[in-house]
Amino acid sequence: MPPSVKFAKVKFHYNTPIPTGASMQGYIIWIQKQKSEDLIIQILTPTELKTLYRFYGARHSIIHLGRKIDFTQEHNGIFMPKLRNIMHLGFSWEREAERLYVWQRFTLLLHRHLRDISVIDEEYFRILDSGAHRLGSQNPKRVALEMYAQILQLEGRNPLSQRCIICERGFGEEGDSSVRESIQQGFLDIGADSGARDRARETARLIPHANTPIRVLHAFVSAHVECATGEILPYGKLESYLRSASTIALDDEEIERAYRVLLCGM
Ligand SMILES: [Zn+2]
Repeated sequence: MPPSVKFAKVKFHYNTPIPTGASMQGYIIWIQKQKSEDLIIQILTPTELKTLYRFYGARHSIIHLGRKIDFTQEHNGIFMPKLRNIMHLGFSWEREAERLYVWQRFTLLLHRHLRDISVIDEEYFRILDSGAHRLGSQNPKRVALEMYAQILQLEGRNPLSQRCIICERGFGEEGDSSVRESIQQGFLDIGADSGARDRARETARLIPHANTPIRVLHAFVSAHVECATGEILPYGKLESYLRSASTIALDDEEIERAYRVLLCGM
């Protein structure tokens, strides 16, 4: 009589030698439940985005989205590598619902952003680790926004443009005309040659006033207020945030608006 599938499975688990790897640290950025209550877990470590399997067991209380863990990986070369020897490296803010919620949403955004990547730059872990250490004492949405701006810089993405993504005209065209005229005048005073005058006009057309309202779209791509719908931030504050990866220029209401943009995706 052939052994049942179930028997073969049990025999396989207990009799196959499994090499044990060195322990490492990482953040759980995604969890998917399986039918049998097993879990597939994605962990961001300093060098890799690991997708590991966790069989159902009594110690599952350790596994929660966003947590930092110390763990080992065991692989028999056939099935998905297994998550073993888990230790929770806790932060005090994990007991505060709002901080934990913002953190978990950020890790899910990061999971979606990195979904097809396995080998990653160490800086992703460093950004997440630095954010986790600041989360206990700072506004969690500010921490999330600052981590995101750091990721944009790491990836060499600068979504801030001097031209509207929709109509491709300069933001200065919709700004404060008196400011533009004074800039033009300043350039015009330098000399009378037409090339300088044209360049001055072009600069004035592109440079918006710091208070110029900008429509901030998905991934912080910018547009004229009249060209799109969505959240609005002043150009100067948006520029300051993206350039410095600091939210210090944004007031609490602007943080809420910027955070809603972040939730649309990285
Ligand atoms: Zn436009």
